[in-house]
Amino acid sequence: MNIVVLTGAGVSAESGIPTFRGPDGVWENHRIEDVASPEAFLRDPDFVHGFYNARRAALHGVAPNAAHFALAALERAWEGRGDFLLVTQNVDDLHERAGSRRLLHMHGELRQMLCAACGARHPWLTEADTATSCPACGETGLRPDVVWFGEIPYHMEPILAALDRADVFCAIGTSGVVYPAAGFAAQARRNGRGCILYEINPAPTGERYFDHVIAAPAGEGVPEFLRRLGV
Ligand code: NAD
Repeated sequence: MNIVVLTGAGVSAESGIPTFRGPDGVWENHRIEDVASPEAFLRDPDFVHGFYNARRAALHGVAPNAAHFALAALERAWEGRGDFLLVTQNVDDLHERAGSRRLLHMHGELRQMLCAACGARHPWLTEADTATSCPACGETGLRPDVVWFGEIPYHMEPILAALDRADVFCAIGTSGVVYPAAGFAAQARRNGRGCILYEINPAPTGERYFDHVIAAPAGEGVPEFLRRLGV
């Protein structure tokens, strides 16, 4: 039996990382379009660097929660029983810190920079600004290695292949409004394998194609999901 899990900002909420869409559509007091688009970066790169520097610095003060650990335990327990893939929309590194290895960051990673000049990627734990030069080519022009609105998400080929083989799909802590991730449940549903769809969210999306909705915070809901899988 093959499992694909999709996580969104909600899985990290109990670790103290704010989710994307607060009640008035702002992310940590910023309008999304002012910080998370190529246009925003062209317009005011220092401002955008400052926003991501602060998000990166905040990672020092947070830790994985019970949901991250449960997903890492599921991956280990599933070895030899079928395929397992964890796809995250999150740019934090809490899944890997909890021990997840079969993990794809479809929206990139806060702790990584991408060089606009040579395309090199660099692990990055500190601040960056417009004067920071690329350790590979020496040019300035580093940007956070995060996928912004209007850009193509990473790893789509292996993700779509895994959805085609999935027997269980579980969406955790995602509002289901950002495509293409918002279409993954429907994609799995159509794969001809009778894929069973789970949702874990304290405020479920109301999408009718979910077979099982665990209306709980991820820290409680993911351990319950494991119980239902017999893990
Ligand atoms: P979103 O903010 O749109 O939705 C968050 C969802 O989580 C909501 O449906 C909410 O009901 C649910 N939620 C809140 N608390 C929860 C909890 N304790 N347990 C489970 N669910 C909970 O988030 P999204 O759908 O992931 O939006 C996509 C974008 O947000 C992504 O592009 C991602 O890069 C970005 N983002 C990432 C982080 C992060 O890396 N931690 C944080 C904020 C935003």
